[in-house]
Amino acid sequence: MTKKQPSQQRAKVLVVEDEESFVDALTIGLDREGFDVTIARDGLEAVTLFNKSHFDVVLLDLMLPKMSGLDVCRSIRATSGVPIIIVSAKGEEIDMVLMLEIGADDYVTKPYRLRELVARMRAVLRRRRDDDHDDDDEEIVRGNIRMDIDARRCFVDGDEIKLRKKEFALLRLLLDNPGRVLTREVLIDRVWGSDYVGDTKTLDVHIKRLRTLIEDEPKNPTHITTVRGVGYRYEVTKP
Ligand code: CA
Repeated sequence: MTKKQPSQQRAKVLVVEDEESFVDALTIGLDREGFDVTIARDGLEAVTLFNKSHFDVVLLDLMLPKMSGLDVCRSIRATSGVPIIIVSAKGEEIDMVLMLEIGADDYVTKPYRLRELVARMRAVLRRRRDDDHDDDDEEIVRGNIRMDIDARRCFVDGDEIKLRKKEFALLRLLLDNPGRVLTREVLIDRVWGSDYVGDTKTLDVHIKRLRTLIEDEPKNPTHITTVRGVGYRYEVTKP
């Protein structure tokens, strides 16, 4: 017997799978287990969908049309730390070292039981949540910037800067992902979600204001850099 979990926020899963029988079973089964399911039927669609919105976990088949699962994994990892579970076909040899190198979190082999799959998905989500909690420990310090999360205060070289709510959320998200490119879509989705009403310039306006507050030369930013056509990155602080 499985129960729905209406009280908790449903985790969003991107299922990358080209076999219809699996697509159908996963769509129904995972929904019943409390996941919000989005399907991508080939590798290119997977990357496109991933860059468009936020997912909590990715279930990734290796053998896919248009772009292999490995390439999809590499592409997602270039911008995101989302948990990725690789799904391999029976008899397909899995190169564990390669899998870890490209940043997969876990794997299952077809045919799998839904219960096993769900257990693994919950495990990677739990692990990720524990990691996030470390970041929630009151403050984030990166170079000369310190954010006191509980008090919602931010300091640059010890001097407090005043941030509006969305600016604070945006800077926190960037600081939480040092060295990682965050796409415009992900930044907007995480900071504004469905509240996002402005045109796409709203994000840039907020970035610009953050730069005036934290950069030595806002026009030549060294902390928050632009990745043209993709998004923004918080640069890893040099020692
Ligand atoms: Ca396949």
